[in-house]
Amino acid sequence: MNSPFTAVKPSTRKRVLVTGGAGFLGSHLCERLLDAGYDLLCVDNFYTGTKDNLLHVLANPHLELMRHDVTFPLYVEVDEIFNLACPASPIHYQFDPVQTTKTSVHGAINMLGLAKRVKARILQASTSEVYGDPEVHPQREEYWGRVNPIGVRACYDEGKRCAETLFFDYRRQHGLNIKVARIFNTYGPRMHPNDGRVVSNFIVQALRNEPITLYGDGSQTRSFCYVDDLIEGLLRLMATPDDFIGPVNLGNPGEFSIKELAEKVIELTGSHSVLSYHPLPSDDPVQRRPDIALAQNVLSWEPKVHLEEGLRRTIAYFDALLSGKRESQ
Ligand code: NAD
Ligand code: UDP
Repeated sequence: MNSPFTAVKPSTRKRVLVTGGAGFLGSHLCERLLDAGYDLLCVDNFYTGTKDNLLHVLANPHLELMRHDVTFPLYVEVDEIFNLACPASPIHYQFDPVQTTKTSVHGAINMLGLAKRVKARILQASTSEVYGDPEVHPQREEYWGRVNPIGVRACYDEGKRCAETLFFDYRRQHGLNIKVARIFNTYGPRMHPNDGRVVSNFIVQALRNEPITLYGDGSQTRSFCYVDDLIEGLLRLMATPDDFIGPVNLGNPGEFSIKELAEKVIELTGSHSVLSYHPLPSDDPVQRRPDIALAQNVLSWEPKVHLEEGLRRTIAYFDALLSGKRESQ
């Protein structure tokens, strides 16, 4: 007869923590990590994310979902940490700017402290916003950026810049195994319909035949990366040898004006929407495009999904969501 005290064979699965795992990018990352056979702890305070994003994987015994705010310390045992917790849409991160800075800075300190205690590898979801409104185009990782430190976007931009500083200082001071990804505008299914970011706004407006809200004259540019490509980049970065730490740009170098995006969305949805012009928000960057040479060389990574194909998939998602045929996924 087996003794009740027989040692249980420890799981050989790698234990991974994803903060912000109920958000847009986080939920896609969680899905990929579960598919790859990891034991996953997903931590989120549901500020902009929702359990709905994870409904389809909640029954997986290798997923644990924990409500927790990363501005408070967390004591768990894990091997790897993906730190994604932070609102990413301007309307959300500007709603409570003090909390946004706290999430980036205190969140980074708490997650780095955790990584130090348990000797985990830790990846930071940084952003192209660290380049601010750039005078260098396309943006390379060496560029230090041009950020207004007292403007309305600063809570996010400076918060993320400070988080990068903390990551590099924890490495220099404590030898932590860090990775820093600078993510450029990413879109796809599970963006929140009221998220306020341009791709979700335009698609929802077009599907409802409502006016498309163009801020400024629409000549400002962005480079849009489809979510699956981005997640692949994050996974490859985490798997790099210890001596590669980044920062590394992850984004799609295809650059479009916001007006071009609006026209493309109208065309692909067959919408009757018209363009409606609104004032440009302050400090809105004029142009943005990643130089991805580093990611190509080190990660053998480059985006595969062209904007038109990515938009089609995203439109199909929102169409089903808005017509009530889909609750989540
Ligand atoms: P999102 O808003 O959908 O996800 C963020 C998640 O973090 C949400 O689930 C939210 O509830 C959670 N969160 C926020 N504050 C928290 C806190 N204090 N404690 C715990 N959880 C908290 O945004 P996203 O697009 O999925 O972005 C994820 C990460 O990637 C963010 O760090 C963002 O800065 C970064 N990023 C995203 C993009 C993009 O285009 N999507 C671009 C650059 C960087
Ligand atoms: N934008 C727009 N209409 C909208 C939402 C956004 O014209 O309804 C513009 C916005 O001013 C910016 C670009 O689209 O120039 C991208 O905005 P988003 O908030 O998606 O991302 P970010 O500015 O952080 O890159």
